Amino acid sequence: METKNSIFICESSYLSFSTTAGTDVIDITRPVADKVADSGIAEGQVLVFTPGSTAALTTIEYESGVVRDLIEAIERIAPKDMEYRHDARWGDGNGYAHVRSALLGPSLAVPITNGRLALGTWQQIVLIDFDNRPRKRQVIVQASGLKSR
Ligand code: ZN
Repeated sequence: METKNSIFICESSYLSFSTTAGTDVIDITRPVADKVADSGIAEGQVLVFTPGSTAALTTIEYESGVVRDLIEAIERIAPKDMEYRHDARWGDGNGYAHVRSALLGPSLAVPITNGRLALGTWQQIVLIDFDNRPRKRQVIVQASGLKSR
């Protein structure tokens, strides 16, 4: 890798998505890839992060069968119809959403190699919103790395 003719840059950009009261799994690969392409970074990484404690980011093969399988697996791990201390305390009924979000995590880092996201062919980046009311979700896309001068 050439470094003499490269500069290090770090660029933050923002995406936003409207979600419903159910569990939404949104494929955000294309807009993230577009931000990375716009940055001109050849080698580096992109950090994708969603502020908020009832959403998460991960990767999955974005096909309806496995997306459904994931939603059902999460339902078994942190069922919606259980008693949560959070709900007793705040009364907002989304204790399950906070637990699910904490388990999956709010961020994801993906390497950028040869100017592209190093994702597998059947690996998409997904934003998952667990909350029990419609939300406007923000996703921060922070790309950093080497760019040709
Ligand atoms: Zn809450």
